[in-house]
This record gives sequence, C-alpha cells and structure tokens, in this order.
Amino acid sequence: MDTYLVGGAVRDRLLGLTVRERDWVVVGATTEEMLAAGYRQVGRDFPVFIHPESGDEYALARTERKSAPGYRGFVVHASPEVTLEEDLRRRDLTINAIAQAADGTLIDPFGGTEDLRLGRLHHVSPAFVEDPVRVLRCARFAAQFARQGFRVSHATQELMHQMVADGEVDALTPERVWAELARALVSAIPGRFFEVLQRCDALARVLPEIDTLLGPSPASHDGDEAPPRALRALARAVELSDRPEIRFAALVLGFGQADPVESLCDRLRTPNAFRDLGRLAARYHLAIRDATNLAPEPLLKLLEELDAFRRPGRVADLALAVQADDDSDLATPYPPAERLATAQATAAAVAASDLAATGLRGAAIGAELHARRIATLAALPRPDKP
Ligand code: ATP
Ligand code: MG
Repeated sequence: MDTYLVGGAVRDRLLGLTVRERDWVVVGATTEEMLAAGYRQVGRDFPVFIHPESGDEYALARTERKSAPGYRGFVVHASPEVTLEEDLRRRDLTINAIAQAADGTLIDPFGGTEDLRLGRLHHVSPAFVEDPVRVLRCARFAAQFARQGFRVSHATQELMHQMVADGEVDALTPERVWAELARALVSAIPGRFFEVLQRCDALARVLPEIDTLLGPSPASHDGDEAPPRALRALARAVELSDRPEIRFAALVLGFGQADPVESLCDRLRTPNAFRDLGRLAARYHLAIRDATNLAPEPLLKLLEELDAFRRPGRVADLALAVQADDDSDLATPYPPAERLATAQATAAAVAASDLAATGLRGAAIGAELHARRIATLAALPRPDKP
C-alpha cells in the first residue's frame, strides 16, 4: 500500500501557510489491512481511519458517482484497485487535488500547483456540479485566500451559476451553510464569501436574508462602486476584531431590528453568542452610536436592555460592531464605547448591597437602585456638552 498526503495540508504548505490538520489517502489497501495495522475506522459512508498515534485521518482511495438528486445521493466505491489519480479526480478544486508522496514528490494531474501560482480557484472536473457543498467551499476559499489574490475562475463561476439555475444548491442544509459561513467569518476578507455567492446567484437561495440586506450586486465590489453598507461594516469589523461574532454583528446590524436577525440565526442554528450579539446590534445600534448624547435615564435604560451589568464584556463587543458600521477613524478610541464603558462602571459601582441600611424591601430596592444609578450618571461629565 502507498500513502500520500492530500488536500489542505499539501495546499497550505505550498502556500507557505501553517498546516493545521493532515489528511492522507491510502492506495492499494483494504479495510481489513488497515484494521490489522492498528487504524481505527471512523467513516460511516466510506472507509476513513484514524491513525492510532498521530490522530490523522487516512482515507482509502475512492471514486464517487452521483446516483440521485440532492447531495446525499452518492455511490462511493473504495477498493485496492482505485488509483491515486481517480481519487484526486473526485475532489473539488485543483488546488485541493494535489498529493505528496513520502519522498516529497508532488502528484498533480489537474494543474493544482499552477493554479496555486496563478491564484485560481478552479474545479477539477465537470463532476464538480454533483455536490452543492462545493459552491460554499469555493466561496469560503475565495475569502480565506483573498489576501493571496485568489479568484474563482470564469469557468468555475459559470458552473456554479448553472448549479444554482438547476436548483442544486437548494439541497444544502442550514447546518452546512452555517459551517462554511462561520469559517468565512474568521477568514482574511469575509466579504468575498458573500460576493462570490451573490455573483452566481447562490446567495439568494442559501442566505436570502443576507442577499436582501446587501441589495442588488454590481458584478463585483472592487471597482469604483462603493460596497454595500453591510460589507463595508464587515470589512471594518475585520480591522477591529478577530472575533467572528463581532464581525457577524457588524454584518447583520443593518437589518435595523432584532426579528430578522433572530429568524436568520434560528434557521442556521448559530451558537447563542452570534444570535445575542447580532440581535442586540441590530436593535440598539442607533442608541449605541448616540451614547455620548444620551441623558442619564435613557443611558441607564440602554445598559439594562443590553444586560450590561450581568455581562460586562457585552457593551465593548457591541460598541465594536457599531463602530464598524460608523464612519469613525478606526485607529482612535470610539467615543460611544468610552462613554458606555464609563457609564457601565459608574452605575455598577452602585450596588444593591449598598441599600441594606435603607431598610427598603422588594420592588422598592430596585427603584432606589435605579434612582441612585441615574444620579451618579448625571454627575458624569458629558463628553459633547462641556
Ligand atoms: P481546510 O483547510 O479547511 O481543512 P481542506 O481542503 O483540507 O481545507 P477538508 O474539508 O479537510 O478541506 O477536506 C480535505 C480534502 O477533501 C479537500 O482538500 C478536498 O480535496 C476534499 N474535499 C472535501 N470536501 C469536498 C467536497 N465537498 N467535494 C470534493 N472534494 C472535497
Ligand atoms: Mg483539511
């Protein structure tokens, strides 16, 4: 049997990036031989094994053939006769279809190294259309390798457009859409993910809410045309934070209300951190942006509605998302963020325990706490009203 390193590990090494996980393909072996050699089988639909020591994934070389509509309908054929080239042919993009032998030799039947040099995301074969997940992956790689100048090839763009027209992408599950979106959010230029999907009309099918938010697309946003507000906010959020939930909040803030964000997050089953920050950013971004002008009462009300006293990090997180959508200079502190942080710390310093001596009970304690907090906020200097 022969073992080759494949996929992302070979690609990322050739790009000079750090390799996070290694996937291997094994040619000329049977499941029995793998088990006898101590590998643990994990694949349910096809023979994939985990190396007992390294934990790396080893897959038997296989071919795949579409047998039914939807993306579950695949006939997988793994046997010792399947060649390395046949296995590479079932892969999505040429840059992901390079294998590396134990001695370092590259096996690259589809021009992957050339496409790495050209910065080209290009399908391996017309069988690309058989799996709509590839549309999402292609858009995600465009975002991930945007700084290296990668672009989707014309032919692949057309193929993806065809897949959308044929209704192929309608079979994608919300879980899978979220999985790739989440990876796009931590990428170099997350906006590319949406641009690529919009250009092939997939965005309206898989993320119709975001498609509406972005508005009609010019063919690309890298000309003179100003990008849509949501993509501009997303790009600025990347400058401000590594955290995907803050980037997400900056993107969806433009919905301007909580409901559409909540239904989007419910449908995609996003983690709560994304849902909470997103809905609060959309609902309160105008108030947050205006924090320097807020009188003590609405200021305290805003902090309470943001649940700022129980979640101290929240105000700063939301202020980053709002700043991303604003016009402020990114290199200088954002006045609304400073105002909210000061107000939160000041109001939080008045604690319910301070009221023990008053002898108040029940709701009266809450009312007194509220009144005292407003009084301390009123004593703060107003940044814009010297
Ligand atoms: P990452 O750095 O995100 O892990 P990757 O390319 O290694 O990128 P994996 O999901 O780990 O992505 O998949 C490993 C390899 O399997 C890919 O490089 C590609 O060759 C192949 N592959 C994965 N998903 C698909 C798919 N949906 N269709 C075709 N080939 C795929
Ligand atoms: Mg991988």
